[in-house]
Amino acid sequence: MNAEIICIGTELLLGHTVDTNSAYLARELAELGINLFHKSTVGDNLNRIVSLLRQAWNRSDVLILSGGLGPTQDDLTREAVAELLGEPLEFREEAWEEILSYFRKTGRSLPESNRRQAMFPASARMLSNRLGTAPGLFVECNGKYLFAFPGVPRELIGLWEEHGRPFLKRLLSETGHPVLTSKMIRMIGIGESAMEERVMDLIQNQTNPTIAPYVGKGDVLLRITARGNSEAENHRRIDEMYHRVQERLGEYIYGTDEETLEEVIGRQLTAKGWTLATAESCTGGLIGHRLTLVPGSSAYYLGGVVSYSNRLKTDLLQVPESILQEYGAVSEETARAMAEGVRLITGADVGIGVTGIAGPDGGTEMKPVGLVYYSVALSDKTVVEHRIFPYDRSGNKEAAAQAVLTLLWKMLR
Ligand code: ATP
Ligand code: MG
Repeated sequence: MNAEIICIGTELLLGHTVDTNSAYLARELAELGINLFHKSTVGDNLNRIVSLLRQAWNRSDVLILSGGLGPTQDDLTREAVAELLGEPLEFREEAWEEILSYFRKTGRSLPESNRRQAMFPASARMLSNRLGTAPGLFVECNGKYLFAFPGVPRELIGLWEEHGRPFLKRLLSETGHPVLTSKMIRMIGIGESAMEERVMDLIQNQTNPTIAPYVGKGDVLLRITARGNSEAENHRRIDEMYHRVQERLGEYIYGTDEETLEEVIGRQLTAKGWTLATAESCTGGLIGHRLTLVPGSSAYYLGGVVSYSNRLKTDLLQVPESILQEYGAVSEETARAMAEGVRLITGADVGIGVTGIAGPDGGTEMKPVGLVYYSVALSDKTVVEHRIFPYDRSGNKEAAAQAVLTLLWKMLR
């Protein structure tokens, strides 16, 4: 089965919007074991969209369209699909009802132009969109399939998960394709090559399941993929391989699949019944942001201080003036005093402190740009580490946040 992705929108051609939808869909198709040989982008021009659709409809079994389902005159996907199929557009009452109820729910009034979104080619099915006003569209014709999703990434993902993926999964199994299942193993505290070295023989001798290393954002990953007749059979093969990987790399594994480090830390804290507070300087609240991405984090995260100035470090966090004067704001001693200080003033079980030079200026020979000291304070011990990151300002902030969370994860384990 061959699939093809078509992104529609002049803003994509101009580079005003970065096309993340096709990357997402490509990953999803690969995970299903569906070939993807073509991926294209076309502007908001009816003739050009139709001609691309014709070409794609000829050579591919599954077309996935992104964008152009909105209410404005330059949203032409409905018209283009109707022309491809040689069908008229017709008004769908059910779609209109849904759009109306979405507007009611979000307390907005409905512009007349939105009626366009209830127009469908005669043989197309409507795909309900709970996250926005544009319903998706599905066509099945002579053993070929076409999905059209709205361009807003959140809505595209929602419709894909609710309609696209389950439909194609079913189709694959009905047509006797092997089932693909994969598991991502997430690791921190080890580099990509060191990780790969430890499982080199597994990688070289792989057949089914296969095993492949990836570099993540601040972590390293191994993907195990099994191919078989059923999910259950695949899971058995994957579990066996997972155990072999665990034997060699267990100390670095923090999670699997879509799990995030901050979620895992949340579970560690919950299991211990501990609370956490943060004192951030160079990361400017990034650690607090990541911790609070986890639903329910208020149960263990008390909050934090972005103590960017020396005055807040001393006045709020009780970092002794003498430490700042003697060792400087970016120092092992200050990081330690920040972690212990925020722990004391908030009454948290765990305190975090981080201070560094994010760049691009402000570095010296002794303290170069990218130098970060970070500390985790528990009731019985405080640990301080430092790193020198080579990235730009925002990269250094992200890397620093990741390093602190990694240290915290290790200490909670
Ligand atoms: P809407 O109802 O919002 O108009 P639509 O289906 O018409 O939805 P577009 O108008 O093409 O979609 O795009 C809506 C927004 O979605 C764009 O402003 C852009 O931010 C985002 N978007 C569109 N296509 C993509 C894409 N391929 N990748 C990432 N974002 C996209
Ligand atoms: Mg639009």
